[in-house]
Amino acid sequence: MQPEARKTIAVVGAGPAGLRAAELAAAAGAHVILCDAQPSAGRKFLIAGRGGLNLTHNEPVENFPARYRTEPERWRDLLDDFGPDALRAWAAQLEIETYVGTSNRVFPRGQKAASLLRAWLRRLRGTGVEFRFGKRLVGLTKEGVRWRLDFAPDFALSADAIVLALGGASWPDTGSDGKWPAILAANGVETAPFVAANCGWNVAWPGAVLERVEGLPLKNLSVTAAGETVSGELLITRYGLEGGAIYRLGPILRAMARPELQIDFKPQVSAEGLLERTRELSSPNEWYRTWKLSPGAIVLLKHCSPNESLERAELVRRLKNFPLQLQSPRPIAEAISSAGGVLWRELSDRLMLKKMPGVFLAGEMIDWEAPTGGYLLQGCFSTGTRAGRSVAEYLS
Ligand SMILES: Cc1cc2nc3c(=O)[nH]c(=O)nc-3n(C[C@H](O)[C@H](O)[C@H](O)COP(=O)(O)OP(=O)(O)OC[C@H]3O[C@@H](n4cnc5c(N)ncnc54)[C@H](O)[C@@H]3O)c2cc1C
Repeated sequence: MQPEARKTIAVVGAGPAGLRAAELAAAAGAHVILCDAQPSAGRKFLIAGRGGLNLTHNEPVENFPARYRTEPERWRDLLDDFGPDALRAWAAQLEIETYVGTSNRVFPRGQKAASLLRAWLRRLRGTGVEFRFGKRLVGLTKEGVRWRLDFAPDFALSADAIVLALGGASWPDTGSDGKWPAILAANGVETAPFVAANCGWNVAWPGAVLERVEGLPLKNLSVTAAGETVSGELLITRYGLEGGAIYRLGPILRAMARPELQIDFKPQVSAEGLLERTRELSSPNEWYRTWKLSPGAIVLLKHCSPNESLERAELVRRLKNFPLQLQSPRPIAEAISSAGGVLWRELSDRLMLKKMPGVFLAGEMIDWEAPTGGYLLQGCFSTGTRAGRSVAEYLS
């Protein structure tokens, strides 16, 4: 683009989705101004890095759309443009090597999220992206062919087009506080309410049980809710349960009137196999030892059974199908991500709001959810890529 023909693109939200959109818009020659309410960029990205930044997943890309639960065609299309391999290649350009770790998850090798973010911001500044921090978007108004963006405290911008990447509603201290829907509602854009996703659940543990099991992991189990079974781990906490297995069942549990899990503490061995192994043994303690049950599973089986002196066959039935009533999801502020946000039907394939031409969206502010395992950041990078590319094409 010639300097005199340079268009201004405002990107609001300096999380991974907004940074990626800004990167592509700047690469296409636009003048990009990136604003965020926080004093610095990528605060949730840095929090994600605390537990090891799981950038994406190494399973075949064909499996990815199902992880996002709805809109498989759209996801196929978005991932065709910028899938897991492209994300790893992008990191390599920033001199961040990635590797495939446990459970096929992809991580930056020996690098902290902070190093990646620093290298990324340096590159963005190098391509002329201007940053404005401490600016909270409070209103969007069409002025002729341009958009006016109003921020608090007292600041305004005029832009030819906009990318919004304002995030979801979990971990509000990082800046994604889910307060933006009113700005879009003023322009007729519909959103689904935010709910906690990838979160723990409350369980009313009997006091005697909690004393013995708090902090214990339950490994190599499978968990079923409403007919859907997932394998993984759980962690018993003071308030209930955390862990990948329960996170993945979140959408199903939220839809149940009385959310309940059935836990199989020994999914690798059939009930017949467990009975056969203990045929010659007479005491429950010998059975537990032989079945190699974890301490947490033993306490749950002993203390949460209606009849504490169960027959061997009944005990096996119970450990293969242990029912657990859940109370409610943990508060959204603690959740890894949120479901809810702008409805897909409000967006074109290019991620432009149909009711607000020239305004594009990216990241967790769109109504999608995905399990942990790198699918969240992958979703932010894929939608950020599409929004950044589309906004530049829109203006050219
Ligand atoms: C503890 C934790 C661990 C995680 N680990 C992983 C992981 O390992 N792998 C993975 O894939 N995902 C992980 N995630 C999820 C991942 O971090 C998020 O999905 C991702 O950061 C969302 O990116 P985003 O750009 O859409 O939004 P965000 O990163 O939330 O950024 C949104 C930005 O918008 C700004 N903003 C909001 N409203 C306004 C406004 N009105 N005006 C101006 N600015 C505004 C905010 O300040 C914020 O900077 C984790 C999340 C948490 C909380």
